[in-house]
Amino acid sequence: AAARNPPHIAMVPTPGMGHLISLTEFAKRLVRYHNFTVTFLIPHDGNSTKSQLSILEGLPTSISYSFLPPADMSNTPADTLILTRVILTLTRSLSDLRESLRALAESTRLVALLVDLFGFPAFDLAGELGVPAYMFYSCNALSLCSILYVRKLDQKYTCESQDSPEQVQFFPGCVPVQWADMIDAVQERQTENYKRVLGMAKQYQRPAGVLVNSFVDLEPAAFKSLMQKDGEIAPIYPVGPLIRDGLEKGSSGSDLCLRWLDDQPNGSVLYVSFGSGGTLSRDQIKELAFGLEESGHRFVWVVKSPSDDSKNASFFKEQIADEPLWFLPEGFLERTKGFGMVVPSWAPQVQILSHGSTGGFLSHCGWNSVLESIINGVPIIAWPLFAEQRLNAVELTTDLKVALRVKPNDGGVVERRQISECIKRLMASEEGKMLRERVTALRFAAATAFAKDGSSTKKISELADIWNH
Ligand code: UDP
Repeated sequence: AAARNPPHIAMVPTPGMGHLISLTEFAKRLVRYHNFTVTFLIPHDGNSTKSQLSILEGLPTSISYSFLPPADMSNTPADTLILTRVILTLTRSLSDLRESLRALAESTRLVALLVDLFGFPAFDLAGELGVPAYMFYSCNALSLCSILYVRKLDQKYTCESQDSPEQVQFFPGCVPVQWADMIDAVQERQTENYKRVLGMAKQYQRPAGVLVNSFVDLEPAAFKSLMQKDGEIAPIYPVGPLIRDGLEKGSSGSDLCLRWLDDQPNGSVLYVSFGSGGTLSRDQIKELAFGLEESGHRFVWVVKSPSDDSKNASFFKEQIADEPLWFLPEGFLERTKGFGMVVPSWAPQVQILSHGSTGGFLSHCGWNSVLESIINGVPIIAWPLFAEQRLNAVELTTDLKVALRVKPNDGGVVERRQISECIKRLMASEEGKMLRERVTALRFAAATAFAKDGSSTKKISELADIWNH
């Protein structure tokens, strides 16, 4: 009887909005175009966020979700690194995950387990059930190349980071990357994060396939190189750009911001956001505020509370939307009232980027944000903060030429003058116009990837056929 059931996929997103969002978009496609059903099994630490729920509650009925019992994180110190926390949340949920998967295998025709880029520890569970495990890599092909490259680097340079090369090239023809722009975790060899990433780099041949949220025409050379790495990585499936349609419910504050955009001239507004996890120091927030003000350009700024000791402080902790904005410079809100809009903590980003009034995006370069910008033809000011974001910034500026990048001073602060100049360059110069033209070309390339015979459409069909044999 089971054979008559639709094929079912179990998806396991590790904590992080970016991971959840791209997996749900992939699930929607499987359901809509290939008649699959999907269950999300969600490991978490007890702090699931409203933003997560807003995504999950809007899913079609053939996609179910259930939160696993909260992982016991009581003995993890408060300063535990994000990457460690993400992985511990999963490893400490494995026995509950095993049970849920077993139950699914009994009640559905379970054909595959799909985990995200930190989901390695779940591979064994798929093995136990006799279903193949696949990985959904929610960042770009270039960063995947960089992780595989770490294996080589590790053999070549055995000492601390001062012995590291000044520049690296992941494969012939690849854009050269300054060492300082490598993924955080890779830069310091003695750290726990480095060991984790190296450990991950050695496991990419374990899944039956690696899906990448990017498309061939965006990163042709990186994909070519990945596809030639037999034995180092499983078969590669470029399946992107998978981004939200932005139709999930927003809060009343967010509606306000869209109404405000309705009243602004076409292409005149700069949207400013550092993603779900990104935070700035108090000083940096001040500089940014003055920079925005000085530029004189219209803006929508998603503001999060400052964090002076980390750049990703809101990754696990949702900020409260009606927190007072005490950290903004005095009088800032009044002075910018006519041309600026401040949205505390979370904004309907996809709707903002697809709004005709939006003409630029000052972004931390999280990969979802980058794709959302490209698909809407919005050029970028790259202000990378952590993880693989600097690598994305290199790709956007040097390779794709759709962005310009801010330069921090020696103390790591991006000064107001620098900010206002970048804004003027993007929003009102010949250079900005060229970036806009380039990103418009990419927008069409992205649409083509999902046309009827587009490269990503075909890859997803290929997977659906494999799974539904
Ligand atoms: N996002 C949003 N509103 C916000 C901040 C972020 O809707 O105020 C969404 C954004 O559209 C994107 C995701 O959250 O889809 C962030 O993912 P990204 O990979 O850009 O960055 P991360 O949050 O993982 O650093």
